[in-house]
Order: sequence, then structure tokens, then C-alpha cells
Amino acid sequence: MTTTKTCTECHVEKPFEDFYAHPAGKYGYAARCKVCVSEASKAKRRADPESYRSYNRFQRQHLTPEQRVKYRDTRRRYRAANKDSINAANRWLYRLHRAKVLADRKQRYQSHRIEILAKRKAARAVQSEPAKEVAR
Ligand SMILES: [Zn+2]
Repeated sequence: MTTTKTCTECHVEKPFEDFYAHPAGKYGYAARCKVCVSEASKAKRRADPESYRSYNRFQRQHLTPEQRVKYRDTRRRYRAANKDSINAANRWLYRLHRAKVLADRKQRYQSHRIEILAKRKAARAVQSEPAKEVAR
């Protein structure tokens, strides 16, 4: 019984478990091995990252409420588990693009000045309230 097939991309003979199942493929498996499929999709994403970003953005905007909660929890868990490397990457990006970050912040402040000042005022009002429940 045949348990291997040859990848049409790398031309290496590999066991069936190195191929994704595909009903139309020979023996019920895809023509390219998993490694070649993965490399091809990485190359495609690298060639056009913006189309992937807009696709992901579109998908996120059309989640059901349950999916939204699951997505948020997954991101929270990831961020909690990778806090140090995320912070290091953000610091690195800040140092690399410091001028642009500061210019963007300044521009955002200028175009949202009234909302930002109102938020700060509200936060100050909360802080200066006598602490009722905190003192316990
Ligand atoms: Zn291959």
C-alpha cells in the first residue's frame, strides 16, 4: 500500500502525514507538502502585508459577540504571557521612530484637544473625590 507521495514543489518523496488532506488530490492529499504550503503562504503575506491586514481588520469587525469575547480574552492572555517581549519591542520601535511617534502624538492632541482636556478634567474630579470604598 502506498503511504508516500512526491511534493510537486520541492520534489521530495514524503509520508502522507506531511501533506494536508485534500479530497481532489492524489490519494486524498494536497499536491504540495505542508512545508512548501507554509513557505508559499509566508511569501505571499510578505509580498502584500496590507491585504492581510485589511482582511484581518474586516474579519474582526464582523465577529459575533461570543467571538468578540473569545478574541479579546485570547489577546489578553497572549499579552499577559508575553508582557516583557512586547514591552521590549515597543521600546525598540519607539527609539527607532521617536520623531514620528512624537509628531503623531502632538497632531492627535491638537485635533482632539477638547475631548482630551475633558477626559483629564473628569479623571482629576474622580481622584479628588473622598475615597469611600478604597479605605478598607
Ligand atoms: Zn514540498
